[in-house]
Amino acid sequence: MSGGIGLRLFVCIAVLFPVFLAVGTTSSILDMTPPISRLALADLRDTFEEVHNGHRHEAIDILEPTGTPVHAVVSGTIRKLFLSNRGGSTIYQFDEMGAYCYYYAHLDRYVEGLREGMRVERGDVIGFVGSTGNADARTPHLHFAIFELGPERLWWKGKAVNPYPGLVDAVKRAK
Ligand SMILES: [Zn+2]
Repeated sequence: MSGGIGLRLFVCIAVLFPVFLAVGTTSSILDMTPPISRLALADLRDTFEEVHNGHRHEAIDILEPTGTPVHAVVSGTIRKLFLSNRGGSTIYQFDEMGAYCYYYAHLDRYVEGLREGMRVERGDVIGFVGSTGNADARTPHLHFAIFELGPERLWWKGKAVNPYPGLVDAVKRAK
């Protein structure tokens, strides 16, 4: 009898443990708030699979006027402030678990005082929309991407995840 209970307990843990892990690693995407205030569903278009300048886009572009505040979509840490030819002024932000990296590109500038290693809360202003890097100056926008980090947690080495469904949910929750 006790062996049966023990076995059942073991099966229960074996079944539930991966579920806990899965919930733990997807929770920050499910907790996102929109990177732009008063964002509407009509402002979002799924261009993740499109080819832009010879590369799979793997991101969502949100068109906004230059200077529009950009908010951290989750709480976590500013991991890297990076100036690149394509992305211009960019922010790589890790979530609390270091499971996902949130990437904000073509920024006009960072919010004053933003530093690598700094903790930010969800909703904090971290930068402003612009057209730095290879963005067309006539169409300033936020290029927003999400990367699933490997166990080594390197900001430049993640697997792109389509942010579109998470952004749609975030906009619906924000209403
Ligand atoms: Zn883009």
